[in-house]
Amino acid sequence: MNIILLGPPGAGKGTQARRLTEKMGLPQISTGEILREAQNKGTELGRQAALFMKEGKLVPDEVVIGIIAERLKQADCRKGYILDGFPRTLSQAQALKKILDENGSRVNVVLNFKIPDADVVRRLSGRRVCTECGTGYHVAFSPSKTTGKCDRCSGSLVQRDDDREETIQKRLSVYHQQTAPLIDFYRSQDLLKDVDGVGELPVVFKRMDDALGMT
Ligand code: AMP
Repeated sequence: MNIILLGPPGAGKGTQARRLTEKMGLPQISTGEILREAQNKGTELGRQAALFMKEGKLVPDEVVIGIIAERLKQADCRKGYILDGFPRTLSQAQALKKILDENGSRVNVVLNFKIPDADVVRRLSGRRVCTECGTGYHVAFSPSKTTGKCDRCSGSLVQRDDDREETIQKRLSVYHQQTAPLIDFYRSQDLLKDVDGVGELPVVFKRMDDALGMT
């Protein structure tokens, strides 16, 4: 089962991917996470990617496609995977199709999380992320029990550099220009299922399960 999670930044793709991973035993493959890890390790890839990420721009297609091509070869991907944040451009979607075709595989379903732009801004500007386990919080909507500490693992909660106000608008316009065309690309192949991403987490989980026929 190869699942793509599509949607604007802050639509809840990461949170939903983590839940699907627990439920289905498939790996979550987040290009954003892979790039942030490379930055934390100080690799050349990380340094290059940081130049784009801190401005809210997309990292060049050839870089991200290369990362995904390598990642999908790993043993844990054999039974399928959940792609969170890839593809983000038509070229990436076409490259993914080519990689899958070569392996006699295909995309099974694309879940398109829909939330209005105003919600994206509200969610991202208050978002805090655990540096240890990646769990997400929101200062107003889902705060941790102890300010600055993760409920799950006591790791430190931080604001991502690209979750600052000035970068959020840029990421939103990049989404509308470069990523939103994927909605029609996958809808025309009858692979797309819309999921209303507005509401409490359990409600959105239920909608996602319904879309996947898991209820
Ligand atoms: P995310 O964690 O998915 O919000 O991604 C954070 C940032 O990483 C994005 O704003 C981009 O700069 C970069 N990034 C992540 N995935 C991709 C991708 N598929 N293509 C290009 N850039 C990406």
